[in-house]
Amino acid sequence: NIGQLIRRGETCWEIPPTAAMRVPAVIYADEGLIRAMDPKVYEQITNVATLPGIVEAAYAMPDAHWGYGFPIGGVAAFDPDQGGVISAGGVGFDISCGVRTLHTGLTMDRLESDPHRLADELYRAIPAGVGSRGKIHLNPHEMTAMLTGGARWAIDRGFGEAADLERIEERGCMAGADPAQVSARARERQREEMGTLGSGNHYLEVQRVVEIYHRPVAEKFGLRTDGIVITIHCGSRGLGHQIGTEFLKEMAMAAAQYKIALPDRELACAPIRSPLGRRYLGAMRAAINCALANRQILTHLTQKAVDTVFPGVRLELLYDVSHNTCKVEHYTVNGRKKELYIHRKGATRAYGPGHPDLPEAFREVGQPVLIGGSMGTSSYVLCGTEKGANRAFSSACHGAGRAMSRHQAAKQWRGRELVDELARQGIIIRSPSLRGIAEEAPLAYKDAGAVVGAADKAGLAHKIARLEPVICIKG
Ligand code: 5GP
Ligand code: MN
Ligand code: MN
Repeated sequence: NIGQLIRRGETCWEIPPTAAMRVPAVIYADEGLIRAMDPKVYEQITNVATLPGIVEAAYAMPDAHWGYGFPIGGVAAFDPDQGGVISAGGVGFDISCGVRTLHTGLTMDRLESDPHRLADELYRAIPAGVGSRGKIHLNPHEMTAMLTGGARWAIDRGFGEAADLERIEERGCMAGADPAQVSARARERQREEMGTLGSGNHYLEVQRVVEIYHRPVAEKFGLRTDGIVITIHCGSRGLGHQIGTEFLKEMAMAAAQYKIALPDRELACAPIRSPLGRRYLGAMRAAINCALANRQILTHLTQKAVDTVFPGVRLELLYDVSHNTCKVEHYTVNGRKKELYIHRKGATRAYGPGHPDLPEAFREVGQPVLIGGSMGTSSYVLCGTEKGANRAFSSACHGAGRAMSRHQAAKQWRGRELVDELARQGIIIRSPSLRGIAEEAPLAYKDAGAVVGAADKAGLAHKIARLEPVICIKG
């Protein structure tokens, strides 16, 4: 399947434009990752390259795998002046799913004596699993305030500190949200899901910093060997999923009306400047705020649990990144400054040094890029690069990426055995679902080390630190 690829460099591969493709497809990966890549990725990224108004290339990150329409690990930029489109499948169902990492100030020697106590407290405090419900019930007025305010709303309601806002993309509040576009059903689904982790791939993990690759930047990020951090991965829960589902359907039906030829129905989209495009944008931004608020509330719950075990320990946010979004950003294309709609689906924004949207703490060095591995292997912190803007619109991978489907994994492993095996390695797993654990087996994912190594070599983002799991609360 790699016959169609032209190698452009050690970690850069291209599918040149043919027939309906408007731009090439570009995949960043090393040879091993390319050989193991699901061929569906090549097909899907080629399809993305046919969409109206796409700029430069359709990109796949080294963690790419098959997704709905767009691959997960896909990046595509669209120009509204060239009939550019916005696609619900290009954002993903879990709108603004993302990762935040919190400093604890603890070191491994303090946690080591009794990690089970912290695991128990966290598991008690964080509602996890399919349809998990939280203690926060939003009335219609508060729901709208949340959809407009994001993490800022959460902080105003007492969940966390105002200082956190500086450490969240969009400073915690996505502008341009239009709660009027969020259906009654989407709100209904979210009413009891604020402050919940959700299922499957979502996690709250206590991690130990085990390796530093770049000391000066690690210091700026506050990362030191043997330091303990807590990482939360989750998104916009039922609300985001409902919005994705509704708009996909609408976009699929409207494609003919907008005269968009779709090579795959799953690529349903609408012109950015059409009424449908604008409505989706408003709803999607509201869902981004929902995800930001959700991670903020989860942080508050985590803080309370940590307090019980380690009184006085204050969690401090390193950064919060989203990896399922469409955002308006500015890039120079063919010497001209352009306002583009950047779709990142399973891809992390990775602004380089000097970017004006970065908080002062990181402006000099670039944005922290938070990469999950698996519950049994390393996760990584990377840093955005200057040249990344010319690689894939300042984007990097978002994880290790799946190497096989959930279904395949569930056939291959047993949850109980995995939990026992990980316990022998000193990793504590807490989850409501043993099947979920099997689906999330570490070997069901690609080698995160290879993925971030390729991202680093390709210049998408630089490796700063490696983390190992100590406790993992799995949804
Ligand atoms: P996604 O957002 O595509 O669902 O997942 C993002 C990434 O998180 C996956 O590609 C995978 O590498 C990583 N991941 C999934 N489960 C875990 C986990 O339990 N712990 C850590 N550290 N990473 C995980
Ligand atoms: Mn995610
Ligand atoms: Mn998600």
